[in-house]
This record gives sequence, C-alpha cells and structure tokens, in this order.
Amino acid sequence: MEAQRPHAVCIPAPGQGHISAMLKLAKLLHHKGFHITYVLTQLNYTHIMQARDFRPLNQAPTFCFETIPDGIPSRETRNSAIDLVEIIFSISKNCSAPFRALIHKLNVASDVPPVSCIVSDAFMSSTTIGAAQELGIPAVVFWPFSGVGSMLHLHSLILRDKVSINNKDDDYIIDWIPGVKSIRLGDIPTSAWSPNPNDPIVDNTISQVSGSYNASAVIFHTFDELEPQVCNALRSMFNRAYTIGPIPLLLKGFPESDEINQIECHMWKQDQDCFQWLNSKTPKSVVYVNFGSMAVTSPDKLVELAIGLCKSMQNFLWIIRPELISGNWSEILPPQFMDAIKGGRRGYVSHWCDQEQVLNHPSVGGFLTHCGWNSIVESMSAGVAMICWSSFAEQGLNRLCCCSEWGFGLEIELDVNGENVESVVRELMEGEKGREVKKKAFLWKERAEAAIGVGGSSFSNLDKLIGEVLLSGCRQFKN
Ligand code: UDP
Repeated sequence: MEAQRPHAVCIPAPGQGHISAMLKLAKLLHHKGFHITYVLTQLNYTHIMQARDFRPLNQAPTFCFETIPDGIPSRETRNSAIDLVEIIFSISKNCSAPFRALIHKLNVASDVPPVSCIVSDAFMSSTTIGAAQELGIPAVVFWPFSGVGSMLHLHSLILRDKVSINNKDDDYIIDWIPGVKSIRLGDIPTSAWSPNPNDPIVDNTISQVSGSYNASAVIFHTFDELEPQVCNALRSMFNRAYTIGPIPLLLKGFPESDEINQIECHMWKQDQDCFQWLNSKTPKSVVYVNFGSMAVTSPDKLVELAIGLCKSMQNFLWIIRPELISGNWSEILPPQFMDAIKGGRRGYVSHWCDQEQVLNHPSVGGFLTHCGWNSIVESMSAGVAMICWSSFAEQGLNRLCCCSEWGFGLEIELDVNGENVESVVRELMEGEKGREVKKKAFLWKERAEAAIGVGGSSFSNLDKLIGEVLLSGCRQFKN
C-alpha cells in the first residue's frame, strides 16, 4: 500500500473535452506524487470501452479508474447525438450519492491511501463539493475554459439579473465584468447567458457556479501572460485562484513512465493510419480539420466545407466524427471531393485521431477548428495557426479571442460556403495574412513555454496549488 502518497480523486464533467483536460491535470498531480483515482460517469466509461473494443483501461497501481452510475442510456439505444440537457439533468439527479459512496469505499479500502482532496470539474461541483466538505478535505474546482470564458460563466447569475431578456441587440455592450473591458452581448457564451429565462443549460451553469465560490481553491486553464487582466481579476475574486496552463505543455515538462503515458480516455477509436498519410506529405503542407467531440452540422454545410477544401488545392486531413452529421458523409460529398481523397492523393478523411499528435506532426501547417478550448490550447502549444469556426457554448468567444486578441487565428464565415472556405484556407497556407498569424502562433507558443518553464507563472502556480491547498488535506492523517 502507498500509505504516504496524498490521494486526489479527480472527476471531469461528462464530455470528451472535459475528460481529456482533467486527465492531463491528473497526470500532472500524479507526477507530483499523488495517488490518483480518476472517476468516469457510466455513459462515458461505456463509450470509452467500446472505442477500446472492451480492452481494459490502462491503469497503474497509483493511478486507478472508477465509475459512478449516471442513469443515461448509451449510444446504441438512441439514434441521435447525445443530448446535452439530458446529460446535465441525469448527472445532477443521479451522481451525488454514488460519488459519496465511492469516496467511502476508497476510504475503507486497505490498498489505497485515504482520500485527501477532490479535484472536480467546475460543471461537476454540485456533485462533489458537499462530499469534500463532509470529510473536511480540500475541494478544488477546475475550469477547463479560458480565463475570460470562466469569468463570464462565473457571472451567469448576475448576467441573468442585469441583462433584460428582451434585449435582442447583439451589439449591446457589457462593461462591468471584472477584467473584461467590454464585450458585446452576442459574444457572451450561450452557456452563460440566454434570452430564455428558463434555459436549462444556463440554469445548470448558475447552479454549478456556486460550487466554485464554496471550493477551497479554483484552477483556471490559462496562463497569466495570455490574459493578464482577467487573471488578476479572477485572483481578486477568490481567496485561492491558480492559473495553470497550457497543461499539455506543462505535462511535457515532466517526463513520465510509459505506464502513465499510455493512460488515455477516448470515446472514439483512434485512427493510426493517418500518421502514415501525414508522413507522406511535405512539412507544413497539410490543413488539419476537426470540429471536436460535440459539434454537429448540416449535410449542406459539410458539402460547402468539402468544396472549399477541394478548391483550395491544399493537402487536408479531415476528421469527420460519426455524429457530426446525420447520415454517411461518403454518400453526401461531391465527386470532386471523393476524387481528391482517392488513394489519399490530396486529402485523407477519418473519424477520430490523436489530435495532439497530429498537431505536433511536422506536416501540419494549419488547423481549421470549431474553437473548443482544449483544441485552441493544444494548437497554441504546438505553435499551429488556426482558422476559426465556432458552434456553441463559449466557442464563439474563443474564436473572437484567437482572431482579434491573440492574432493566431483567421475567421471563417459561420454560415460556411465553399468560396469563403477556399479563400481562407489558401490565405492561411500561402497568403500574407497567413504568414502573420503563423508568426503570432509561434510567438504565443514561446510565451506559453516560458509560462510552464522553471520559474514561469504556471510552473509556480502548480507548486503553490499543491503546497497551499491540495496537501492541506493530508495533514489530518499525520501522526
Ligand atoms: N480530440 C481528439 N481527437 C479528435 C478530436 C478531438 O483527441 O479527433 C480531443 C482534443 O485533443 C481535445 C478534445 O478532444 O482534447 C476536444 O476538446 P475541445 O475543448 O477542443 O472541444 P469539444 O469536443 O469539447 O467541443
């Protein structure tokens, strides 16, 4: 038994992006000497196991997985993409009691150290904070969003109170949110404010946000140099707030055993053959296209994207997740597209990949993304410039920050059409603006590397988080 190790129970919100981000944070803590119990909700666990053909998850004696029931039927028993609202309701109704029971089970087990802290996704805090408080151990909330994205969600209740639901003016300016000089109403994440006073997604945000205010500490997945004003404002809102990012880069700074590196949680089977195809292309010649784990689009838009990619005459690797559209892409896309991917000549289509590995492949020269925060952080960490599309939640805000604030993204029209896709893809790969955003991407990669390097802001904040908060729950076990 590893009696001396502090024991962190890490629990992500259900969703691939949340799971990937928390897994990396858990690996960081493991590197820092923690015993990790990583908790998955049943539906996600089922999907991950299906993607692995039911091979057990890689684990280690000091890094273990547990599941808790969530009462949600699995992919097979439904015909459509998973309904976010259904997930939200089931989780808040069904997960608290099993989570408490799990903590109890871990605490009476003879082969693991007692649980000394809980690290919970901000959107799981209504399930977790009470359990930590009952045990008198630290509960830390992790926001896997940008600083500004987190800040706006943290103001969801005040936004509901202060912004009239009759306000239909997207250009209405909000200038009273700390650290955010001014923002258009239309740029507020749909998960933080909605004109519908009963919007279930915003209701959930409001109820989860209180967990952050009751937590022992809050972690934000950003770094000070990227969002200086908002990071300062977050620190003045909480007694203990830690900006720690980019986590993928931090993790690279701590080489781990293969046993730990091989631990991963993907809900779709990864295509390995795309790397062979990438190897066959010249450096920086490929546009990588991926819209993450939740976005959906229409067959019409898929066709426009395909036409644009085809006409741009650039190499492309396009990940079309099975639920991205209803139907089969190969029956919808035009013959010239099918011709371009025949034999992998100019394009390659797959269903899921190891995105970080793709972004770090020398052949990749740009990323057409839906602007999920993890995708942006991973792209920034790899120094890859982006073309920014967005779908829902805080993706529009991320798009705005990438294109207008940090300068490493080019915008693409949201209502995609072939001509626009063609010209923006060409611009990124061959044009003057493309050169500028690529320079910025390189610059931000260097700044991010400085933040995670020894003495950098994120490097120091990680140590502070551990020393000031996470280890405080072990003190009660001493003597
Ligand atoms: N991802 C991946 N392979 C894919 C697509 C996505 O590994 O083919 C990972 C990606 O690296 C990221 C996460 O899934 O860590 C997606 O998170 P993000 O916040 O970008 O978007 P979401 O899926 O939450 O909309």
